[in-house]
Amino acid sequence: MKFSDLIDGGRLAAGGLKDFAVGLAHPSLRLGVTGLSRAGKTVFITSLIQALLKGGRFPAFEAYAGGRISRVYLEPQPDDGLPRFPYEDHLEALSQGETRHWPEGTRQISQLRLTIEYEPRGLVARTVGSGKLHLDIVDYPGEWLLDLPLMGMSYARWSALTIAASRSGPRLSRAGDWHAHLATLDAMASADETKAIRAAQLFTAYLASCRDDDASLSALPPGRFLMPGDFAGSPLLAFAPLDVNEDAVFSSGSLGALMERRYDSYVARIVKPFFFGHFARLDRQIVLVDALSALNAGAAAVSDLQTALAGILACFRQGSNSIVSSLFGRRIDRILFAATKADLLHQTSHDRLENILRLIVNDAANRAEYSGAVIDVVALAAIRATREARVTQKGETLDCIAGTPEKGEAIGNQVFDGNTEAAIFPGDLPENPRAALDGSLEGHLKFVRFRPPLKRLETFPHIRMDRAAEFLIGDRLA
Ligand code: GDP
Repeated sequence: MKFSDLIDGGRLAAGGLKDFAVGLAHPSLRLGVTGLSRAGKTVFITSLIQALLKGGRFPAFEAYAGGRISRVYLEPQPDDGLPRFPYEDHLEALSQGETRHWPEGTRQISQLRLTIEYEPRGLVARTVGSGKLHLDIVDYPGEWLLDLPLMGMSYARWSALTIAASRSGPRLSRAGDWHAHLATLDAMASADETKAIRAAQLFTAYLASCRDDDASLSALPPGRFLMPGDFAGSPLLAFAPLDVNEDAVFSSGSLGALMERRYDSYVARIVKPFFFGHFARLDRQIVLVDALSALNAGAAAVSDLQTALAGILACFRQGSNSIVSSLFGRRIDRILFAATKADLLHQTSHDRLENILRLIVNDAANRAEYSGAVIDVVALAAIRATREARVTQKGETLDCIAGTPEKGEAIGNQVFDGNTEAAIFPGDLPENPRAALDGSLEGHLKFVRFRPPLKRLETFPHIRMDRAAEFLIGDRLA
């Protein structure tokens, strides 16, 4: 073990000790909610909190369905250094009648504490009295999670891997401007700040282009380049890969040495504090995945998603946070992967979507040689914006979904005005999940963005949120 690991271990132990001491008095569960930008984190958390506070229809969430939950309320969150998840603002956005709209998505880490009072299940447990669980929901960008492998990687190796990946598949066609500039850079020439900044700008534009709807690629570290949080414009982000071997050594004063120093600072001042301060303190994790967009974008996007999930699972591998677990028994013991926006498909495809995600996750777990927490998968819609509809067209009956498409969305020649309902045939998923991974669904699914539903009940309609809640917190309310 290196000296720096020991220091980091000490840092972690201090945080863990605080959690441990507090946890003795009041049991708490820190639930991480992550996923790449637009995967649906904000909508998921808002819907979950509302259902728990107001008593949503959650038949598969046993404690709720069995009437054992006596009271749920929000409490001031325990970490003063973290922004609060703006639940009320998000709810307000979704509830504004005709002007309702989806809330602004996650841009940085935030947290909210929910306290659940419940009647324990067993007779003996009940005689001890009612139970209380603090549920701390921690929302953070999945882009930051994909940075964790950088902790064990040198600048030269990261450069070599990043550039190799950019020379094939859909990345290549998006890398033109950046590659052209890269070809003008000499790692051993003397350091030049303007060139470093220009390289960072072009590299960031390349990453952003790989994320857009057509490509839908996932594995794109460094995550703060796309999701900077508080670091927007910081010199910590003014670096980019150089075309070097993975064992390159840079002489002092060279461009390579400047880039390497910034990369090392990025890891030391952004990635490690996130890992030790937040990630390593989680008990459970839900990873939201926009699998439908990846399936629709084709084989490269699906395989990239798999790479990203393997990277994520490697972070969760037991042992990587073993200092925490051995000292304080705190470690992530359950991870749920959830394919979001299942309401964009007819219900006949929900199980199929789940099976496809299961296959992707299993393959990723094999690749990451994963062992550790219990993993499950679910296809869900945090807020169901559509309902089922059957449409007969030329004698054929189609299983459709109906809702109000967002203004400007279009299918063929039809452009929607944001107020008109429409029934859409989104396409089917194949029964054999393997058949979905080879890219054959590319462009085959028809998605439009729907407006949130007009709220008629106290809580939002959803798909399988109760299953997610049962897996993530059910056992802690036993
Ligand atoms: P974040 O970036 O991960 O926080 O993603 P958001 O929660 O902001 O979701 C991104 C977008 O996905 C939203 O603005 C909605 O358009 C859409 N969305 C999220 N959840 C759902 C859902 O359950 N159903 C539907 N139809 N759309 C959703």
